[in-house]
Amino acid sequence: MTYSAIIVGAGHNGLVTANYLARAGARVLALERRDFVGGACITEELFPDFRVSSCSYICHMLQSKVIEDLELRKHGLHIHPVDPYRFQPFPSGEYMLRWHDEANNAEEIARLAPEDLDGYHRYQDFMARAAGILHRYFLEDPPTLAQVTEDVRGTSNEAVWERMLTGNMRDLVEEHFQSAEARAVFIDAQDAGDPRAPGSIMSVAYTDTDLFTEPRDMGIPSGGMGGITQAMARAAESLGVEIRTNSPVDRIVVRDGRAVGVRLADGEIVEADVVLSNADPKRTFLSLVDEKQLAPDLARGVRRLKTDVSYLKFHAALDELPDFSGYLGARYDENLLVQVRICPSVEYFQQSADEARAGLPSSSPVMHIQIPSVLDKSLTPEGKHVMSIWALYAPVKPRVGAWDDLREQTGERMIDTIEEYAPGFRKSVRDWELFTPQDLEERVGLTDGNIRHLDITSAQMFANRPSMLMSGYRTPVDGLYLCGAGTHPGGEVTGAPGHNAAHAVLRDWELA
Ligand SMILES: Cc1cc2nc3c(=O)[nH]c(=O)nc-3n(C[C@H](O)[C@H](O)[C@H](O)COP(=O)(O)OP(=O)(O)OC[C@H]3O[C@@H](n4cnc5c(N)ncnc54)[C@H](O)[C@@H]3O)c2cc1C
Repeated sequence: MTYSAIIVGAGHNGLVTANYLARAGARVLALERRDFVGGACITEELFPDFRVSSCSYICHMLQSKVIEDLELRKHGLHIHPVDPYRFQPFPSGEYMLRWHDEANNAEEIARLAPEDLDGYHRYQDFMARAAGILHRYFLEDPPTLAQVTEDVRGTSNEAVWERMLTGNMRDLVEEHFQSAEARAVFIDAQDAGDPRAPGSIMSVAYTDTDLFTEPRDMGIPSGGMGGITQAMARAAESLGVEIRTNSPVDRIVVRDGRAVGVRLADGEIVEADVVLSNADPKRTFLSLVDEKQLAPDLARGVRRLKTDVSYLKFHAALDELPDFSGYLGARYDENLLVQVRICPSVEYFQQSADEARAGLPSSSPVMHIQIPSVLDKSLTPEGKHVMSIWALYAPVKPRVGAWDDLREQTGERMIDTIEEYAPGFRKSVRDWELFTPQDLEERVGLTDGNIRHLDITSAQMFANRPSMLMSGYRTPVDGLYLCGAGTHPGGEVTGAPGHNAAHAVLRDWELA
């Protein structure tokens, strides 16, 4: 049978693409190498009877249009809101809560660092503008940086845009906040990998586009992040999409310069009018397409794409919640502790970035801890909890040995660090597991364990994503498209690349 479209990979973007194409009447086959769909948006039982979101853990950028178009709620998606969305304790015994409501946040800043209230309002205004500049293009073909510059020219966002291109997060935070605690709350760099890197504001503004997410679409999905991709797969199947798991694609078959199908690892050839790859651009062009089919400068360009910034993911099965009651006193409520950030200072953050760049596992891991079982009791046996930690930063390839040899000490250090804030934590840990960049590459198929397929930096955004040589979703190989996080607007669970790629195909078919 010939399909209208084959999608290589059933990550969330592959599933979104499949849905949009099938809604337009296409006959779609999605081929997934693992034995379940979802890519980096999944729930796994890593410990007996304890289920965890093993990669992504918070739904904060999934586009409302995608949720509605795919009718994901009808297909089982339910999202638990998380508010406050973060508790951040400090060694001094102080803490800060961050809420979705600005008045609550202002109250917290006034309690913790009254001198920073004015700076906080100015910072929030700046970041909302910065995120707004990016967000308006999310569900469109990517503009060039020159077009964005043109669009903001003469508006009150012009200076913000210039600073996004050239400024850095460390200066921005230190300029707006005086207290060490407020600085520690707001310091960030995301895929820039260093808060001093020019352009790091752009990388942070990308994830801050969640300021535009509807509150009802933001939080922890029931059943973990796999709840999203299970709903997407159900929606796709209801439209007639065929999803085959345990079906690794070995080659994208190119004949006379045109992609005509795929060859599976078992040798089976399946043909289609077009092929879309949900795999990252490096994997797609350096292993799935025969290099002989590519112009030499394209292959060289793909090799040079940046997948340099990496993270760790730690999971634990817990007998009880970590005890942060010493901070909250009478205010204590476990619902305040669903997400916790450990980052005591700007210098601590900087050290983590500097060490990763030097090829060292971080001695000061910045930890984004989540305990989803506070809200979703279906994840664990009664009274027990699961914890996940997204930790930054980590070298892709450590200089001081293989990740297999460093995993144990790196995980133990993370447990020790939490113990400093929540005494007794260590004895509540029944079991734990740490995913290094190498594990993320092997398990999920992410080149260099890159969680967003390519670093999200100003050089790899908009029309430069994935590359200056290959903008948007169409590729230099006729009939081959990209539909994953390595395309505009980028990674995170957004559904936007999948949405945009499907529309590019439909336009080429003159169906949109
Ligand atoms: C540790 C971690 C933490 C994260 N935290 C968050 C978070 O909290 N919130 C958030 O929004 N985002 C988060 N992200 C980022 C987000 O999960 C990803 O950017 C996003 O899920 C990428 O989706 P995708 O569909 O484009 O690609 P992927 O999820 O990478 O899917 C690609 C699919 O293609 C399959 N595939 C690859 N090669 C082949 C082949 N040859 N044959 C068949 N199938 C193939 C893979 O198995 C995979 O299923 C995190 C990611 C990680 C790894």
